[in-house]
Amino acid sequence: MAEIVVIGAGLSGTLMAYELVPQLRKEDRLTLVGESSVFHFVPSNPWVAIGWRKKPEIEIDLTKVMKRKNIRFITAGAKRVHPDENRVEIEDGSSIAYDYLVIATGPDLAFDEIAGLGPNGHTQSVCHVEHAAEAHDAFERFCAAPGPIIVGAVQGASCFGPAYEFAFILDTELRKRSIRDQVPMTFVTPEPYIGHLGLDGVGDTKTLLESELRDRHIKWITNARVKSIEPDAMEVEEVAEDGTVRKSERIPFNYAMMLPAFRGVPAVHGIEKLTNPRGFIAVDKYQRNPAYQNIFAVGVCVAIPPVGPSAVPVGVPKTGFMIESMVTATAQNIGALLAGKKVAWQPTWNAICLADFGDSGVAFVAQPQIPPRNVNWSSKGSWVHLAKIAFEKYFLRKIRRGESEPFYERFLMEKLNIKKIKESA
Ligand SMILES: Cc1cc2nc3c(=O)[nH]c(=O)nc-3n(C[C@H](O)[C@H](O)[C@H](O)COP(=O)(O)OP(=O)(O)OC[C@H]3O[C@@H](n4cnc5c(N)ncnc54)[C@H](O)[C@@H]3O)c2cc1C
Repeated sequence: MAEIVVIGAGLSGTLMAYELVPQLRKEDRLTLVGESSVFHFVPSNPWVAIGWRKKPEIEIDLTKVMKRKNIRFITAGAKRVHPDENRVEIEDGSSIAYDYLVIATGPDLAFDEIAGLGPNGHTQSVCHVEHAAEAHDAFERFCAAPGPIIVGAVQGASCFGPAYEFAFILDTELRKRSIRDQVPMTFVTPEPYIGHLGLDGVGDTKTLLESELRDRHIKWITNARVKSIEPDAMEVEEVAEDGTVRKSERIPFNYAMMLPAFRGVPAVHGIEKLTNPRGFIAVDKYQRNPAYQNIFAVGVCVAIPPVGPSAVPVGVPKTGFMIESMVTATAQNIGALLAGKKVAWQPTWNAICLADFGDSGVAFVAQPQIPPRNVNWSSKGSWVHLAKIAFEKYFLRKIRRGESEPFYERFLMEKLNIKKIKESA
């Protein structure tokens, strides 16, 4: 018998558990360790912050579905991984031994790296549904007494799509409330240019997103380093290519949402040979840690180097479809190992993304996500807003039903020639 343990019951960990079930032999046991029994659909957090969704609408209690699928579900959270002992220490003092471990713990949000950043400081966040709910309360207070807004991401951030989305849906909502004329907006980002997205752009995201910002009267600062944040103002430096400071600005705000840099969660951070200095898990082309070969990692917790040098640090995003390709490859590889074979399944890391603007949006396809690419396409239209709503409903249904990839999704992806797996055994 083999013990397979997945830690993290978010987007990647939940799908990971579902995809592992068909790989198991009768005698194997699968355990999922989460921090709570509730799954929330992270891509909908910006809508919660604006009031377009209520928190319960994007949450699912996983207890029943895990039971139905015969997955042992522990919700006390992992305290520490002990890779030399093949053991996960749980927050309640117990331990779980494993033969194969999948780490799917997502990001630790590094708000503490900048004074005044984050929900305990002076800016809002949409990274967690609790933050998004708080951001919504603050938004309602803001609308009663409007003023300047800052939206963006800080140095070292790797997730830029939600920052653009949030700026555009804020603009849409403020126009609906007829108070947009009282709100100067600034987009602040470490990206070397608008639309870089940590990916050196996809298709013509530079032109598309610049023109959208211009159309909506949103000013921007690129190559930005946030120095500190006070209750009503942000100190921002614009950095030149040679690293010198081109300009320093103090930008006032009544409401600000800034995405933080990510790092690995405390349960894995600082484990020699398992993680890089930021606490992300090192993986090979099979999603397996090179030092501890019975440990795999999927999702935002995976270490990926930046696409190239930039004046201010900019990370690479780990987007949903890319994560799903990591999950499928990992499930197949663990299945192969259980069957006495070798790992052979490589994820494509293809990215398909929908960024919502509230009334329209931008879609892009990057195959693979890291350039140079075979497919490098982006497009704008009102259909993207509708597609994003449909995707949310579809994804939540998959999670509720305990499915990772229904046959019709596989069929559609095959028709579109968008693959999750590069090679198979
Ligand atoms: C606001 C936002 C919007 C996004 N929108 C999109 C989008 O539209 N499209 C797209 O493709 N991508 C999007 N992404 C990127 C990506 O798809 C999401 O971040 C996705 O949630 C990442 O999945 P994950 O499983 O790696 O992390 P998460 O979904 O964050 O899951 C990690 C889980 O691990 C748990 N955990 C952490 N530590 C422990 C521990 N010690 N023990 C047990 N459990 C632990 C956490 O509680 C959490 O449930 C978005 C990201 C953000 C932040």
